Amino acid sequence: MMDRREILDWLRCTDSQQLERLWQQADRLRQEQVGDAVHLRGLVEISNHCARACHYCGLRAANQAIGRYRMSEEEVFACALAAQHLGYGTLVLQSGEDDGIKADWLAGLIRRIKNATPLALTLSLGERSDDALAAWREAGADRYLLRFETSDRALYRAIHPDRGSRVSDRIAILGKLRALGYETGSGVMVGIPGQRYETLADDLLLCRELDLDMIGIGPFIAHPQTPLWQAQSPLSAEDQVPPTIDMTCKAVALARILRPDANIPATTAVAVMNASLGRELALRRGANVIMPNLTPPQYRELYAIYPGKADRIETAEAGDNQIRAQVLALGRTVGSGPGGRSGRSDTERQSPEPGPVPPVSLKIAVCMGSSCFSRGNNGQTIETLRHCVEAAGLVPEITGHLCENLCTQGPHVTIGDTLYSNVQASCFAELLRHHLASGKEGIDG
Ligand code: SF4
Repeated sequence: MMDRREILDWLRCTDSQQLERLWQQADRLRQEQVGDAVHLRGLVEISNHCARACHYCGLRAANQAIGRYRMSEEEVFACALAAQHLGYGTLVLQSGEDDGIKADWLAGLIRRIKNATPLALTLSLGERSDDALAAWREAGADRYLLRFETSDRALYRAIHPDRGSRVSDRIAILGKLRALGYETGSGVMVGIPGQRYETLADDLLLCRELDLDMIGIGPFIAHPQTPLWQAQSPLSAEDQVPPTIDMTCKAVALARILRPDANIPATTAVAVMNASLGRELALRRGANVIMPNLTPPQYRELYAIYPGKADRIETAEAGDNQIRAQVLALGRTVGSGPGGRSGRSDTERQSPEPGPVPPVSLKIAVCMGSSCFSRGNNGQTIETLRHCVEAAGLVPEITGHLCENLCTQGPHVTIGDTLYSNVQASCFAELLRHHLASGKEGIDG
């Protein structure tokens, strides 16, 4: 297990020979854990309306210099058919935080796409109400992406103000998404003005702790019509993380080492910073996903999160050809099927396994006494526990019982025969890993 000190050493490392070891380790783990397939996920930017005021993003509500659009149901559906036609396994619907995208409208569209195509559906629509998230999951959405951007709360609030009285807590929303059964994706920006190396190390550790299914990492790029355009960092050059391709690749490689089986995209921002090499470098250093842009050309320039984002490729087919050529030139293959958490393509999954593996169950008892319940041991926590155990490849046997009589140290969870105190759902994945690594009792073959 790589610790914070080691992560910091890598983030500060400038020796290209040593860094070669990091790239090789990340690439080897990528190959072992998720295979050679690069999954293509068709991206459709369905609306550039946004109610938020993020200090770096061109879609912020205060930016009146861009025209706004919201795609119609028929336009989005046509993009879904295009994604299927191009052989993609996943469609990603992305927008600003647009209250004009009504929960019912999108739920109907999700059902229509799921009925007509075999596509997995990923949503990336910002911080939406619990009811909307539940309705979209029920309609068939499979995954949700919501970047927490930085683990430093003060820095986060400085660049991503609350929306009126609505306090932004993306970590809490990620927990809800998981409890709803979404595969969850999140991630960070590299080089936010005021971001220290220690902060970036904590960001990466939080990606591990959250047991993310997908980790998106891109360099910080501010839009000209925003307060952070060409902003000076309050930190010295020695302390400030630079928003460079190399630093982003280090974060990608470290994310692969910390969460070996996650899906990690070579982000568009990396490709924008270095059009000829950015994507390739990320793919060589741990990434296994690309999101080709299927947004109709007339909208692409309007989805101006940062400058230079709208690529010049006019058609989905032309972009697809270019990306496939890039993937094949790297000696990799293009993935088939939805490419979920296991990361392996459907073709790879069909290869014969070495032999039958007996099901293994893990007994977990959750204290449901009133004190533990009020401290967090509720139905949502149980869903999180169940998901974490299943993600570890085990069959959960979860029971509730009444009181451990240790109320001041709750909430309590017993794994096998070991009682754990102060257990928070957000840390359970990490606790489970430690429990299993320690070889403690409680696993039944
Ligand atoms: S980063 Fe997202 S939430 Fe913030 S202004 Fe841009 S689109 Fe809106």
